[in-house]
Amino acid sequence: MSVTTSTGGRHFLQIPGPTNVPDRVLRAMDFPTIDHRGPEFAALGKEVLEAVKAPFGTTQPVIIYPASGTGAWEAALTNTLSPGDRVLCFETGHFATLWQKMATEMGLEVDFVPGDWRHGVQPEAVQEKLAADTGHAIKAVMVVHNETSTGVTSRVGEVRQAIDAAGHPALLLVDTISSLGSIDYRHDEWGVDVTISGSQKGLMLPPGISFNAVSEKALEASRTAKLPKSYWNWEPILAANANGFWPYTPATNILYGLKEALKMLAEEGLPNVYARHARHAEATRAAVRGWGLEVLALDEREYSGSLTAVLLSDEYDADAVRELILREYDMSLGAGLTKLAGKVFRIGHLGHFNDLTLAGTLAGVQMGLVRSGVKIDPTGLQSALDRLQQP
Ligand code: PLP
Repeated sequence: MSVTTSTGGRHFLQIPGPTNVPDRVLRAMDFPTIDHRGPEFAALGKEVLEAVKAPFGTTQPVIIYPASGTGAWEAALTNTLSPGDRVLCFETGHFATLWQKMATEMGLEVDFVPGDWRHGVQPEAVQEKLAADTGHAIKAVMVVHNETSTGVTSRVGEVRQAIDAAGHPALLLVDTISSLGSIDYRHDEWGVDVTISGSQKGLMLPPGISFNAVSEKALEASRTAKLPKSYWNWEPILAANANGFWPYTPATNILYGLKEALKMLAEEGLPNVYARHARHAEATRAAVRGWGLEVLALDEREYSGSLTAVLLSDEYDADAVRELILREYDMSLGAGLTKLAGKVFRIGHLGHFNDLTLAGTLAGVQMGLVRSGVKIDPTGLQSALDRLQQP
């Protein structure tokens, strides 16, 4: 049952994931579920396990779990680490905070560097922390590439350089749940050991599968890692994957969708996909600034290509604005999470998204702000349209 007053037209799902699933992908999944131990499935399995490597920027194995992104977080930790191992994490926002909490709950010693939720991981801080760890007690550095709660993208390539500059052997574990297929990412080139991701954002799929891309160094670590693992254990999965199978029941119909979504990304070309997202992010920031409001991200090197968090002044309640926009315009926007509750709303501009989807989204945001009594300059929308009129 809809909670909106609108009965016509399509709902605008502009949260930063799950994102809108293209009709092509929906149709590709609308087929009978097949025997996951049969030859037809083996061909599908082999094809998607190979094709999925492209958005990760890797030629190394990518594990696919029938699980949400949180499962893939756990898989990355449990395959590579042992009880009491030290890990280095940075408080970039809500998701980094949740991931370090998971690490603590799993029996790891977490060094959690505080942050203001408006910046990404500082490569200088990584270098400093690792250089001070002369005994190499830190076994892994955990980075959320794109903080979905803040719209801040950490510079993973520079984090890699910082680890190398410190001459430290720690593994690099990176969460790309809201960046994969939207923001340039290079698992191999940046020497990432485990890249974690999920289906429901840049890959334009429904929620339900998640990923670990694994380096040779990560695989080697998994052979001696002592945290208990069973469902998440890479070894039996990789053995079954060699023949296109899984040790348990895979998410067959989402894999049909994955095959189609990867085809769509390849047809557009990943560099074009990243440029499209960056351009839409730029137009969104033009609107926000035109309205006289603040983009939460403070460092232009860290602006997210997949979402923009808009900060309202204390006199306004961002949740009330979101609720009005849902009720009046049938559009869902992302809420402020934990520390940012009521202070920000988040505009998702990722996945299956084009110029007119953005124009409609920003028009809805502007109308909602005005109707909520937020003092804005209504030329904000025009600023975005001016940007969209350029290539
Ligand atoms: N990490 C990031 C950056 C996310 O955005 C999310 C979900 O939005 C998660 C982790 C958790 O993923 P899931 O909700 O699929 O378990």
